Amino acid sequence: MWKRKSGKTEQSRLELCDLCGATFAESEAVRAYVPDSSSVSCDNDWFDGLRLITACGDPHFAVVQDIYRHRPFTHEELWAAKIDRALTTGPPVLTFEELGCRTGLHEPEIRRAIAWHNEHLGPGGRREP
Ligand SMILES: [Zn+2]
Repeated sequence: MWKRKSGKTEQSRLELCDLCGATFAESEAVRAYVPDSSSVSCDNDWFDGLRLITACGDPHFAVVQDIYRHRPFTHEELWAAKIDRALTTGPPVLTFEELGCRTGLHEPEIRRAIAWHNEHLGPGGRREP
């Protein structure tokens, strides 16, 4: 069932349901973007603040969508995620100006994001993913 009906040897990718963890072929997945201020895209910052959710079917999609609908959207959290991406990928960032260029944020936003990040550090010094 992992092969396409055309008989091509190409195998479809597998996906996991965000709710129940079931595995299924990519073609059966129910997917859409939902607002999530903790999510930034690694390859396109147009998608920052959006999370692609994947579910095994409409009922589980509705549950996951509902979870994100009730999650507060916090600008500081989104800015912190952009800063984290700038600090962990590409050439090292040394100054507020460089960080501003890489994230598109102004210095007051960067300072608010850093304050938010420090307030939300877990006991191990690391934020929950
Ligand atoms: Zn599911």
